[in-house]
Amino acid sequence: MRLVRPETPRDAVAALTNGAVALAGGTDLVPLLRDRIVEADALVHVADAVPRGVTSTSTSITRVGAGTTLGELEVDPQVPQALREACALSASPQLRAMGTLGGNLRQATRCWYWRLKFPCYLHGGERCHAKEGEHREHAIFGNERCASAHPSDLAAALLALGATVRTDRRELGVAELYRLPTDDERDVVGLERDELILELDVPAADASTYLKAMDRRKWAFPLVGVAAARVGPSVRVALAGVAPIPWLLDSPAALDDATPLPGTAYKVELARVLVRRALAATG
Ligand SMILES: Cc1cc2nc3c(=O)[nH]c(=O)nc-3n(C[C@H](O)[C@H](O)[C@H](O)COP(=O)(O)OP(=O)(O)OC[C@H]3O[C@@H](n4cnc5c(N)ncnc54)[C@H](O)[C@@H]3O)c2cc1C
Ligand code: SF4
Repeated sequence: MRLVRPETPRDAVAALTNGAVALAGGTDLVPLLRDRIVEADALVHVADAVPRGVTSTSTSITRVGAGTTLGELEVDPQVPQALREACALSASPQLRAMGTLGGNLRQATRCWYWRLKFPCYLHGGERCHAKEGEHREHAIFGNERCASAHPSDLAAALLALGATVRTDRRELGVAELYRLPTDDERDVVGLERDELILELDVPAADASTYLKAMDRRKWAFPLVGVAAARVGPSVRVALAGVAPIPWLLDSPAALDDATPLPGTAYKVELARVLVRRALAATG
């Protein structure tokens, strides 16, 4: 396998031809390559091609390079609180020292059927094995075809904060970055195969927070993560770990519309408690 290390976004995109895959910190990609879930002829290491670091473009926008690590984000006072808290509650210190924002937003599902290469719906098959089998950590929304639970704490925080993603070819909201899988398109991330995330613009909030229920107090993916961000009287709430994509919750009452599986009904109750606490905290 070839490894290239381009120095500009343009060269990186040019190198991402068929059979090449972008590599950042490698914390998600390397195990997927090892297990042959992702096949690659070449790895395009994007560390020198993608911006890294945090700057304030105005009093109301913080710009974050996609190559910034979670560890750098969690301690930077320019970063809105919900995003800092989401980073601090993610993974382990070692993983946060390597894992980048761009890689985190693009990370693959943790669904164990998918990771064990069952020929499930997300792999292009017909069935969701989790719905019929073990699904304690799976979805309570958007789970008609695939019941996976989106693992990114950061994506939920960025969705609540109303962040914008800049790629090498366009700008889009974090909400537009993701889509539920369909018969025509199984990938939940709506980027082209050779499209690179470069930066995110994160609006300031008057108050924001990220709360997370997990199996262990550290180093665990979200069973339910709740981000809330208030600007003036308006509050946006977004959830991690509850749907195949980060989930914007219109109101606490929208939890009544959840479609839990037999093994995930407990997540609805967890979400109710965390949403109540997050709204109180951003009061
Ligand atoms: C044990 C473990 C526990 C974890 N716990 C949590 C958790 O609690 N919460 C949480 O949110 N995350 C968690 N993670 C996920 C972790 O945060 C991600 O693996 C990490 O952020 C990915 O970043 P990376 O730079 O290592 O990406 P890589 O592994 O290098 O890449 C991941 C994917 O992103 C693509 N990619 C990378 N950079 C870009 C870019 N700039 N543009 C487009 N595509 C890109 C790659 O091609 C690949 O498909 C955990 C991971 C592990 C292994
Ligand atoms: S939840 Fe999604 S990824 Fe998991 S088995 Fe079902 S279709 Fe596959």
